[in-house]
Amino acid sequence: MLSGVVFVTVMLYVYVYSVLDNNRLLAKMQEDAQQAEYAFKAEQQAAEMRMLQIATFVANDPDVQQLFLQGKNAVAAEGGGAGGARAAKIRAKLYEHLRHGQEILAQKFNFRQFHFHLGSGALSFLRVHQVEKFGDRLDNVRFTAVATNATQQAVAGFETGQFISGIRGVVPVFAVDSENSKKVYVGALEAGAAFDITLQALHKNRPWLNGAVFLTKKHLQRNICPDVLAKMVTKEQFVHDMRIEGTSSPQIDDLLKQQQFPAILSTNGQQLLTIGDKHLNVISFALRDFRGLTDPQQPDVGRIVVWQDVSAAIATQKHADNKMMLYGLVLFISLELIIFFGLRYLTSILKLELDQSLQRQVASDKRAQVAAESAHMKSTFLSMMGHELLTPLNTIIGMGKLLSTSSLETDQQRCLGKINLSSQRLLNLISEVLTIVKLEDSSISEEATSFHLPHIVKRVTDHFSAQAQTHATALKCKIAEQVPLYLIGYPDLLDRVLSQLVGNATKFSRGGEVTIDITMIKLKRARVTLEFCVVDQGIGIAPGHLEQIFEPFYQVDSSISRAHEGAGLGLHLAQKICQQLGCQINVASTIGVGSRFSFVLQFDVDSAVAADFVGTTNVLEVHADGAEIKYKLGSSAELSKILNQLHDPLENLQAKQCQHLAKQLSNKRWPSTYSEDVDTLILQIEGYRFSEAQDVLAWLQKML
Ligand code: ADP
Repeated sequence: MLSGVVFVTVMLYVYVYSVLDNNRLLAKMQEDAQQAEYAFKAEQQAAEMRMLQIATFVANDPDVQQLFLQGKNAVAAEGGGAGGARAAKIRAKLYEHLRHGQEILAQKFNFRQFHFHLGSGALSFLRVHQVEKFGDRLDNVRFTAVATNATQQAVAGFETGQFISGIRGVVPVFAVDSENSKKVYVGALEAGAAFDITLQALHKNRPWLNGAVFLTKKHLQRNICPDVLAKMVTKEQFVHDMRIEGTSSPQIDDLLKQQQFPAILSTNGQQLLTIGDKHLNVISFALRDFRGLTDPQQPDVGRIVVWQDVSAAIATQKHADNKMMLYGLVLFISLELIIFFGLRYLTSILKLELDQSLQRQVASDKRAQVAAESAHMKSTFLSMMGHELLTPLNTIIGMGKLLSTSSLETDQQRCLGKINLSSQRLLNLISEVLTIVKLEDSSISEEATSFHLPHIVKRVTDHFSAQAQTHATALKCKIAEQVPLYLIGYPDLLDRVLSQLVGNATKFSRGGEVTIDITMIKLKRARVTLEFCVVDQGIGIAPGHLEQIFEPFYQVDSSISRAHEGAGLGLHLAQKICQQLGCQINVASTIGVGSRFSFVLQFDVDSAVAADFVGTTNVLEVHADGAEIKYKLGSSAELSKILNQLHDPLENLQAKQCQHLAKQLSNKRWPSTYSEDVDTLILQIEGYRFSEAQDVLAWLQKML
């Protein structure tokens, strides 16, 4: 996949580079072709100037001037046109005068002809290159000569005559009339050359350029004598209705054979032609003659084609393309190698890292295992030790109690009392230490179970009712309105925390009240948040001690505590349990007024039990003077009355009957294994919704 992406990227780069390079070459060719057109035009202009120079040079020769003037006068005297004998004599003299010079010029400058024209219009007086032909009127052919005779100004340009086409420079000839010594205008002198002069100069000055001049058939038909044209047509073939007037290279024949050549010939602009393995950069543009230049209405007389062999440049370009492709391949292979070895290197590093981390993991697992094993050993050791300690201690306590029932001396009674107290303290201490260690070593392992909140509360109050009574303290419990009574949680842990707090509250109170206050903070779906408060009116705790009392073995006043049988571990243990349950015990206290310990716990409401207490009030009160219990469910006093009535008959039930009852009421979570715990059965019924409870009781009454 990665290789594919690299390959495509590299090839794309190569392709884009080649396309851009090719475009650069094409743009350069276009520019070169344009330059070629300018070069041709410059050479043509130079040729015209040369013709003008030559003509001027001759026109300034006084002999030429006098002979031409005499010739003009003779023609006029001898009836115009070709003139007579005198005109012929002067014509011969002028020819003789120039013949030699013309030959030299012809050799040196590729020059072709001198032609003397008399005005007005253009009457041929002497053709130095074709002396036998004269006296013809060229008014509609030689527009250069006509223009000079009309304006007495020099003109130049391309023109096709009756016999031949060429580049011409025409100048006015003036002479001094010997009769009146006045300078008079005589006529026009034309110097002319073939188009070859331009083409050769073009190729000579820029050897890479070649050109050809094409003349249209129409143009030739208009100017050339019909018999001369007929010869032309038989001698040379017209290609694409044009005649090749001149060329600097025979290569034009190859161009003519090309299919696209007619298109090239007829449209202005550059094109690339491929002939075999040759590539020609060709430009074609229109040819205007002298008449066409002065009159824009006149059609083009032909076309100029200039070309350059660009095979070498294209071969170089192709070579560069191939080289680029090769570089691309080399780049691709190099990248592939880098990626391959790079990945291999990275993989080896990663493998090393992985191995090291695995080793670390194994080592840490080992350490964790060792730690777990040692923790397990520790807890096993502690529980075994605890068990080993508790067994003889329980025996001591049992024996002590037994002994205290026997008749003993007062001193012995006192000693035994101390033994009993100490062994009880020791028992408490050991069980607290064991619980703390157990909590430290593990999180809560037991499963959350369903329980009846008033039942737990009653268990706690039952446990401390005797002590409360001893301290003349009322022990009360308020379960607020709306608190669901059937919950799912950890009843034993809740029991432990409440016992610890209620135990301390009764321990440090004399008179007054100790209240367990349970209120609901939030009920959302089947999740309830309850606050448990244990409030006393005892000795209170000074502010400076409030934080430390949760530390192990911390006692505000050890002398008081000693009197109260404590070791300073109880609150620490309770806090630990709360932390395991996800909460924390808070305390507020005032010396001499009392203390308030509280914690907030979340439970799932046991929805399997039909125990929705919305709108009911549940109050459980345990008084110091006999642990009287009052349950109010709804507003019905009748229900509690019925329950009280049921108490005895239920108590008289045999285990089997009880189990039968349990089975019948199993969908109401009736305790399935109770045989004697009638109180629990009653509590259970009390937890039901009022209407449900009534149904159940009616059913029970029927049964009993
Ligand atoms: P102890 O076994 O000594 O009671 P605890 O950890 O239960 O140990 O309590 C630590 C100390 O906090 C107690 O010794 C006592 O000084 C103080 N204390 C705890 N509860 C109360 C309370 N309800 N009223 C006054 N002091 C209390």
